[in-house]
Amino acid sequence: MSQFFQEGPQLANQYDDDRVLQSFLRRKLPSDVFTEIEPGLRRLGERAVTDILALGDAAEAAPPRHVPYDPWGRRIDRIDVSRAWQELERISAEEGIVASAYERRHGAYSRIHQFARLYLFGASSAVYTCPLAMTDGAARILELHGDLWLRSNPLPRLTSRDPKVFWTSGQWMTERTGGSDVSGTSTIARPDNGLYRLHGTKWFTSATTSPMAMTLARIEDSSEAGRDLSLFYVETKDSSGRLQNITIQRLKDKLGTRAVPTAELTLDGTPARLIGGAGRGVRKIAALLNITRAYNACCAVGFMRRGIALARDYARKRRAFGKRLCDHPLHAETLANLQIEFEAAFHLTFRVAELMGREELGEATEQERAILRLLIPLAKLYTARQAVAHASEVLESFGGAGYVEDTGLPRLLRDAQVLSIWEGTTNVLSLDSLRAIDKEAALGPFLDDLRSRIEVVKAADLLPQVQRIREAGRRIEICYQHGLKEGVDYLQAGARAFAFSLARTYTAALLLEHAAWSLANGGDTRPKMTAQRWCARELAPLIEPNASYRRLSSDLATDG
Ligand SMILES: Cc1cc2nc3c(=O)[nH]c(=O)nc-3n(C[C@H](O)[C@H](O)[C@H](O)COP(=O)(O)OP(=O)(O)OC[C@H]3O[C@@H](n4cnc5c(N)ncnc54)[C@H](O)[C@@H]3O)c2cc1C
Repeated sequence: MSQFFQEGPQLANQYDDDRVLQSFLRRKLPSDVFTEIEPGLRRLGERAVTDILALGDAAEAAPPRHVPYDPWGRRIDRIDVSRAWQELERISAEEGIVASAYERRHGAYSRIHQFARLYLFGASSAVYTCPLAMTDGAARILELHGDLWLRSNPLPRLTSRDPKVFWTSGQWMTERTGGSDVSGTSTIARPDNGLYRLHGTKWFTSATTSPMAMTLARIEDSSEAGRDLSLFYVETKDSSGRLQNITIQRLKDKLGTRAVPTAELTLDGTPARLIGGAGRGVRKIAALLNITRAYNACCAVGFMRRGIALARDYARKRRAFGKRLCDHPLHAETLANLQIEFEAAFHLTFRVAELMGREELGEATEQERAILRLLIPLAKLYTARQAVAHASEVLESFGGAGYVEDTGLPRLLRDAQVLSIWEGTTNVLSLDSLRAIDKEAALGPFLDDLRSRIEVVKAADLLPQVQRIREAGRRIEICYQHGLKEGVDYLQAGARAFAFSLARTYTAALLLEHAAWSLANGGDTRPKMTAQRWCARELAPLIEPNASYRRLSSDLATDG
């Protein structure tokens, strides 16, 4: 009988092991900021493979449970979450995963610092990042639109490092009529003594154990603002811990994110406080969605980095055909491509963090604000699709073991799949990118920014890539101008290809910029290889969906 047993993959300190994160931070942060934050990142990088990882695994193994009735038949609607899930809440407060953005100790760099922490924490946390994303988004809304009471009461809780004070927040937008299209929202808000009472059904509510939530409802009156959706603040429980006229219908049985409680709720007289006056609720909640979408991108990058770390370690141990997997040229090619995808997603996402920090501190120029408006949907949609494909390849790189539950690997794929669905699907965000271009005139500043980034690249062996990016930028511009003439159906049909083209070309510029810096600062040639290989791909896979093209698509879509 064979005495061979395969060694499983091991994870090293996730900060020390991550050259991409380290070199980005060295480039972007003033040296005193980098020196100050590095020990904390190293410590978190260690926790990510020790206690946080163990808690994440334990939370995944003990998913939340809905207890509708007490033993005597009274409706109680309790959601029991594991001890590990509660510990993850405590740790995320203490580690300041949300707080570090709002303390603003490092001015506009605080978002970069916070995203580095989120990135290290996320992949080990059993998607505790979901409640944290909504918490951060809620904090931003309250900063921007909250009255004095909201800014003095819930806001300090959302941004606290003290686990006894810290609150997470839910975000209840999706109803049965739609998550992408919330215009069919049927929840109504009845005025009640200066506050409101909500009546309606919320179809997807994650982090349902959170003490508070942001939600949309239509005020029951005849004024114009009342007909529009308004934004509300809800506390889920009263002072005695009872749900405030909320019935939990059931927890969703989901493909992934299994530790996250996601429930269907009925509200029947739930007290709520209006945020920022009546109406314009969708516009106001956009501030929250910007944050949750940026978190989504950061988590996508975190998953990709975790996948490549595991696959790389395994490839050094597993032998086939007489040598280690990593010594087979084709397997090395596979891993190299995984690394390139990850680096690309990393730079795109952290560019978003950089601009968010500047915007929140009031330091962003008008052009930067327009770029950020476009970059958020692009980064969310593109990195989410990358993360799904990446996780699939990571699983395959383990052979059969990648398909076996107790290796923990299938979870990578299950959890990645949600990234392209919640917070806006790929299509919905592709259309949102068009809106950003139309309403905020974002394409000009975006392409100018792209060009200014590659202008600094002078290394001779990167000049062909500079040229390719310039050409892709030109094709994008022409395609959009042509689309404007062709009309809205043309633009919409091509929106996904257009968004991918923007994301890939902008990422190429970021990679090239980082490659040039790396060559000039220490001579690391790996970013150059990444940039060259990224640019060798099709940067702008645009399509020309004219009327006959669309007719054919419609036939294929409807008749098969
Ligand atoms: C695990 C999980 C947790 C969630 N948690 C929450 C939560 O906490 N709070 C919350 O509010 N929601 C939550 N959601 C809901 C999520 O945000 C929605 O599912 C998502 O926004 C999509 O909405 P939908 O399900 O109604 O799909 P639909 O809007 O019906 O979309 C179906 C398909 O049609 C496409 N589509 C829609 N409109 C267009 C268009 N105009 N052009 C082209 N294609 C289009 C979409 O891309 C999609 O592929 C959660 C979802 C999941 C899976």
